[in-house]
Amino acid sequence: MSDIKKQITEALKDQQEIFGNFLYGKLEPSKKYTYTHSKETAEVIETGASWQVREKVAKDINDNLFLEDFQKSKSLDELYNLTHECQKCPLGKTRTKFVFGVGNPDADALLIGEAPGADEDRLGEPFVGRAGKLLNDILKAINLKREDVYIANILKCRPPNNRDPLPIEMETCFPYLQKQIELIKPKIILCLGRVAANALLNKKLSLGDLRKSVFEYNGIKVLSTYHPAALLRNPNWKRDCWEDVKKFKSLLDQLVVV
Ligand code: SF4
Repeated sequence: MSDIKKQITEALKDQQEIFGNFLYGKLEPSKKYTYTHSKETAEVIETGASWQVREKVAKDINDNLFLEDFQKSKSLDELYNLTHECQKCPLGKTRTKFVFGVGNPDADALLIGEAPGADEDRLGEPFVGRAGKLLNDILKAINLKREDVYIANILKCRPPNNRDPLPIEMETCFPYLQKQIELIKPKIILCLGRVAANALLNKKLSLGDLRKSVFEYNGIKVLSTYHPAALLRNPNWKRDCWEDVKKFKSLLDQLVVV
């Protein structure tokens, strides 16, 4: 018998010994997905616990088995530590700094942009430079400070020459933002720009259509407005942006009172 067949047979026998004739797991073998039974789990299995307990344990094992380490993070700091050296897409090679996010980890409002620009890449913080200053002014106009909200991007690394993020880059990086949202638990999200909104909502809409409606992401209200960099290029859009952020603040106030 070849080595690989022997290994598979032995692994299946181990499974059978632990779980009987049920096969748990997905066919996604990878070095990343290693899991060691906790002492408690091993004891439950060894002591011949009831089927209900065994099934619960098997589910816990299964749920954990295919999670990458960062998905088990309990805090933003832990998530940062597990992701800041990411090289999952080519942008890891070209970035200067990984731009994780900034702000209040318990914020009610999360602002999401597209990707770091040159200043962000240099400083490791989202929305700095002229666009960042304008964002701070927009927040101030609705009585919010930068420290009151959390600010992050769909991509954590800068695309070279500020080109648009590629779909594959957004798909690869998106789980990090998903985990940030899970940890922050915001009541409302404001997407800054069409790219960020479509990536979050998995849609292909114009910014005009995105701005018209309140969407939901996992039960969280989502509004969209212009990216501050676009407002710097075309100040005529500031009036519309002002209407968007007033709507955002009014909804935020309602959600926070509830
Ligand atoms: S853009 Fe995201 S997925 Fe790509 S290297 Fe940076 S952190 Fe990793």
